[in-house]
Amino acid sequence: MAEFEVIDKYFNFGHSGFNTSKRVIKSIGDDCAILDVPKKSKLVTSTDTLIEGVHFFSDVAAADLAYKALAVNVSDLAAMGAKPLAFTLAITLPETDSSWLSEFSRSLKQASKQFDIPLVGGDTTQGYNAQSGISITISVFGTVKKEKVLLRDTAKQDQDIWITGYLGNAAAALALHGKERLNEQQKYLWQQLVKPSINHKFSRKLTKYCQCAIDVSDGLLADLGHIIVQSKVGAKVNVEALPLSDALIDEVGIEEARQYALTGGDDYQLCFVADRKWRNSIHNLAERYDVSVSRIGKIVEQGMHIILEDKPLAITKNSWQHFKKQSCY
Ligand code: ADP
Ligand code: MG
Repeated sequence: MAEFEVIDKYFNFGHSGFNTSKRVIKSIGDDCAILDVPKKSKLVTSTDTLIEGVHFFSDVAAADLAYKALAVNVSDLAAMGAKPLAFTLAITLPETDSSWLSEFSRSLKQASKQFDIPLVGGDTTQGYNAQSGISITISVFGTVKKEKVLLRDTAKQDQDIWITGYLGNAAAALALHGKERLNEQQKYLWQQLVKPSINHKFSRKLTKYCQCAIDVSDGLLADLGHIIVQSKVGAKVNVEALPLSDALIDEVGIEEARQYALTGGDDYQLCFVADRKWRNSIHNLAERYDVSVSRIGKIVEQGMHIILEDKPLAITKNSWQHFKKQSCY
């Protein structure tokens, strides 16, 4: 199958039915897409690449890969408090496998509907090297009002630190790869790795109470670390308050579960910081959007303090970092 056939057959979804469709002036087919940005909004954009053997296992289902490639990008929009506008897809494939492509395409289309973000362009190339096969790069575009943006450098001393959902599930799930039979709890953990849920509507509403957030992709300590460095403050994390799923505790035990929650990546939960006066409002908002939230600590003057039963907890795992010697999953 030639390039244009692939584009037309698998990536030209159209954009009717999307809330933002009237903002897409030109979509797939011209040299560039043209997007309209509402007058009082700013355009935000982010790119994430997924490479076979680095970010995903070679045996991952095409449908799961498509969902995750878009979800991790929408997570970045959510972490800015931005409304999804459109995305582009650059895909490099060793060959055109039509059953793989149709599964990928069907799932990507479904995810794009779910997150209300149309596909407006991209690039399709053939390529292969010994280390990596498929490579997928998605760029997302979103809009946000300047005064409603969530940033990393806006945390202030004495504010609460919050996290959505559970932490550590995805990292623990990595150890399950290749296992023949998974029990119900292990299946649940695996699902959290494969299909992280992203609630961009909740984070947009959150901008009423909060100016500071990050999505947890590399692990809580690493990502909260970005907030405290950029905000020139410190953080105290109360380990007892970390949200751990029953499945995670059953699978690895409480101590290991806490380590996964602190250092494990790929959860795509939202870590956010807010004044204590908004505690009730945040709980109410979370309930309205069916998101669970936990208050896990507070912003202090300096340093990262991980406290369990009034004592510092030793960290036994490393967070994920590219170009740092470590085995990839
Ligand atoms: P150009 O040669 O100008 O870069 P291409 O031939 O690469 O254009 O692409 C033709 C059109 O198809 C463009 O509008 C481009 O954005 C779109 N396109 C190419 N690949 C993809 C893809 N994987 N997903 C969505 N749109 C794509
Ligand atoms: Mg091109």
